[in-house]
Amino acid sequence: MKPTETVADSDIQGVKMKDNLVSEPFRVKPDYNLAVCILASGSKGNAIFISSGDTSLLIDAGLSGIEIERRLTSRGLDPKSLDAILVSHEHSDHIQGVGVLSRRYKLPVYINSKTQKAAVSQLGKLYDFKRFECGSMFTINDLSIHPFSISHDAKDPCGFTVNQNGTKIGIATDLGIATAMVKAHLKGCTLLILEANHDEKMLINGPYPWPVKQRIKSRIGHLSNEASKTLLNELQHDGLKHVMLAHLSETNNTPQKAFNDVGRALTRCEPRLYVATQDESGTILLLN
Ligand SMILES: [Zn+2]
Ligand SMILES: [Zn+2]
Repeated sequence: MKPTETVADSDIQGVKMKDNLVSEPFRVKPDYNLAVCILASGSKGNAIFISSGDTSLLIDAGLSGIEIERRLTSRGLDPKSLDAILVSHEHSDHIQGVGVLSRRYKLPVYINSKTQKAAVSQLGKLYDFKRFECGSMFTINDLSIHPFSISHDAKDPCGFTVNQNGTKIGIATDLGIATAMVKAHLKGCTLLILEANHDEKMLINGPYPWPVKQRIKSRIGHLSNEASKTLLNELQHDGLKHVMLAHLSETNNTPQKAFNDVGRALTRCEPRLYVATQDESGTILLLN
């Protein structure tokens, strides 16, 4: 398997894949609560499209504006349908296209104040911004958004849950450790998008300079496959239907390794398990 491919057609330990994937162009349909498409995931750029049909947003826009547009349209998604962009933290792999898209499509950017201060030069002038605080829920039309603090080397980084009509998506990438608060927020999700950044042995034996290895391994770095497995083991429940492994290192992990190692966590339920890719948009998941 090439490292850029989504693991999509195999089964592991009874985890069925492939169903519920949509290859046709996306259309607004009333028979789902939320549609999700990972446009990019990894250290070269991150963006997640989420839509209820009525309300569509991006969580992070860490590619150029034009590349985000290309990845949306490649899946039949219209950038003009976007209502907002949410920002998790100021690292450029999460904000590179935020300013351009905000201005081009007149989108409000939801961001906390420390992140905004840290990102001000990269963002440029925004069409509009709305402040949120980690820990305080807010709504965008029919979507309930709950940002929560994560442990990462940024000013005020956060994960998010997005809830619509009882369907809940939990997003936690760019975190060194999964704190009790992270676990509490990610309980009861229909879809979990979890970091599986590196294999610990590959990281230690790999080519990165030691200080970089130390940073990645630290409490404010990135989650290993092993740590992701432990987290997923705690979070699994009957209502968990999909798990997307995200923010994989291209140097210190492989999609197959992440899939195999983290997938072992799933002993009590059988969600579909996927690996998000860096180089192209994933397929659209429809959640009920
Ligand atoms: Zn990142
Ligand atoms: Zn980061």
